[in-house]
Amino acid sequence: MEHKISLYQVALQQLDDAAKLINLDPNIHEKLKYMERILIVSVPILMDDGSLKVFQGYRVQHSTVRGPGKGGIRYSENVNMEELKALAMWMTWKTALLKLPLGGAKGGITVNIKKLSPRELEHLTRRYTVEILNLIGPTRDIPAPDMNTNSQTMAWIMDVFSMHRGETTPGVVTGKPIEIGGSLGRNRATGMGLYFIIREMANKMGYKFLELKYIIQGFGKVGSVIAEELFNVGCKIIGTSDSTAGLYSPDGLNIRELIKWKKKGNSFKDYQEKGVEIIEKEEILTKTCDVLIPATTENQITSENADKIDCKILLEGANGPTTPAADKILEERGIVVIPDILANSGGVLVSYFEFVQDINAYFWDLERINNEMRKVLLKALEDVYHVAQERNISLRKAAYVLAVSNVAQAIKLRGFYP
Ligand code: NAD
Repeated sequence: MEHKISLYQVALQQLDDAAKLINLDPNIHEKLKYMERILIVSVPILMDDGSLKVFQGYRVQHSTVRGPGKGGIRYSENVNMEELKALAMWMTWKTALLKLPLGGAKGGITVNIKKLSPRELEHLTRRYTVEILNLIGPTRDIPAPDMNTNSQTMAWIMDVFSMHRGETTPGVVTGKPIEIGGSLGRNRATGMGLYFIIREMANKMGYKFLELKYIIQGFGKVGSVIAEELFNVGCKIIGTSDSTAGLYSPDGLNIRELIKWKKKGNSFKDYQEKGVEIIEKEEILTKTCDVLIPATTENQITSENADKIDCKILLEGANGPTTPAADKILEERGIVVIPDILANSGGVLVSYFEFVQDINAYFWDLERINNEMRKVLLKALEDVYHVAQERNISLRKAAYVLAVSNVAQAIKLRGFYP
């Protein structure tokens, strides 16, 4: 049995590994272990039945040394400080790996949104925004959508911030609706990024990417988009899942139909189609495929199931889906893991493009967004691949070597204040 460690301990372990590989200055290492700022807020909401409920909200900034904090806001019953600290630290590495002038942050509210009415959800978001108002801003910290939040959530945050500042400030969040300063392509960016990366990586490994068989765990903002992109070019997606069930079909699932099914508010457990088997959601991870894409939440691939994972490439759509113990097992078994901080960085990249467009009040067309995204992501993949080959280390370790070095260099140049 894997010794249960918190997500933050996982993040610290990854930092320690990288520190050894790059011979990191111990003072810089010490600084990077800690969050710069943590804010815990109470979010009181008058519910529809007239009772008052208080929810716990957070905003955590790990590093702003390379630029304003950047990171999503998630609404989930599982949101807790240890998780957010890890996610904020991973955002620092993600922005540094892509050399974006941004830092790492994360936030959220511990809440089950299924139990809230639309009015309660809006009030929760607006009140949370007021509580974290002094921490966020286009030059301070720029939130974005994450699990169970979306462009509407960002529109409410942007509105509250703008009302309080007395000036419309689109740059306070990314992932906004297009009509109020959002970017084309943002909604699909993380999935598109996964698509660019897997196509290139399959090529590098000598596979024909169109002939590979894919399994995607999760069918949300990330999972459904990578599924659709692969399906549109003719790839076979033989399995997927949502929080209710897994769907498996060796002949390939009709992703377009599944998207329609989910849009109507249905669950996979009720999906009926000839040739499609309904299985337990956990089972989907251990079915044989070429490329496995976890796109739900963290800690899905652990020492309990790592030896049963049966794929050639693991493409991390989610943040932190693989525990360090599982990572080791996969490495020993020769499964190539494309790490989260590289694989799913298309989202933060187009968030950055949105930020740039807001500052310039000039908006790009989709072709430009996708071209620039492909260029930056493939360069990052090339850099990571090169370091991995040169030093004979995993892609994850190589990505960390580059990301942590970039942050360390910024700390060195700025020095320790005072
Ligand atoms: P989402 O809320 O849109 O989707 C999550 C999906 O996972 C839903 O379909 C849900 O039903 C499903 N799910 C939850 N638990 C499950 C389980 N045990 N088995 C199978 N399915 C399950 O969230 P998202 O935005 O797609 O984010 C998914 C992951 O990707 C998270 O780890 C997030 O941090 C990461 N991520 C998201 C973005 C982004 O732009 N949205 C960017 C980078 C990384």
